[in-house]
Amino acid sequence: MSDPFDRLRADCGRCAALCCVVPAFAASADFAIDKPAGTRCPNLLADHRCGVHDTLRDRGFTGCTVYDCFGAGQQVVQVTLGGEPSARAAEVFPAMRDLHELLWYLTEALTLAAADGVRADLLAVRQETELATAGTVDEIARFDVRALRERVNALLLKVSTVARAGFKRKKDYRGADLFGADLGKADLRGASLRGAYLIGANLRAADLRGADLIGADLRTADLTDADLTGALFLVQSQVDSARGGPGTRLPDRVRHPAHWTSPLPVRRKPRSR
Ligand code: SF4
Repeated sequence: MSDPFDRLRADCGRCAALCCVVPAFAASADFAIDKPAGTRCPNLLADHRCGVHDTLRDRGFTGCTVYDCFGAGQQVVQVTLGGEPSARAAEVFPAMRDLHELLWYLTEALTLAAADGVRADLLAVRQETELATAGTVDEIARFDVRALRERVNALLLKVSTVARAGFKRKKDYRGADLFGADLGKADLRGASLRGAYLIGANLRAADLRGADLIGADLRTADLTDADLTGALFLVQSQVDSARGGPGTRLPDRVRHPAHWTSPLPVRRKPRSR
């Protein structure tokens, strides 16, 4: 049986390095340079390969190593633009990336028994999203992704609530500022960490089984020996931006990042203004 997530994984060989051209970068801990939107990164080679791919982290381009287009790049180049990359890619790539991210979450939700109560709605909105990704440049550029995201989010929240119902004394950290928090060995089973700021948090040996991590910011959070088995809506880019090790347990769909043998530097909380 084919993997429904396959088309939602980046296939850079079928793209035209849209993520190195379309978005703007601001010089920061994630990017070594400023780059205006719609301009080629100076490290990009003529054949769409990155000229510093093997040393991205050392050169200050960590943001590139954790970016995930969810397969939007190849969809824009091969389907929307019919295999002929053009400047019009910039008009649709951001929206396409958002649509593909929603498809990822919808596809994951549909794998869960907790989705049974809203399965028909999930299937309908996934079909609607699929149709949107097949539109023309003008159709995609006009598409109201924000409204769709709100509807998808409402459904995902229902699935999450049912999926986590079996966990007693689950914590609600939705949108919480947990920047640098010490949550080592914390019992976070079934917790809601939706959109929580966990940048640089200590989650060593934390129990995150069944926790909802949609949109949680895990940059440089320490997941060493943490258990994220069955964590909901955790995507690869979140894990790639965190620290961890061979003892970190992840959901099946998420792989151990190669850099977990050499930890990322710890982030410091920015001073408030
Ligand atoms: S540094 Fe490499 S991966 Fe990052 S935007 Fe530039 S060319 Fe792309």
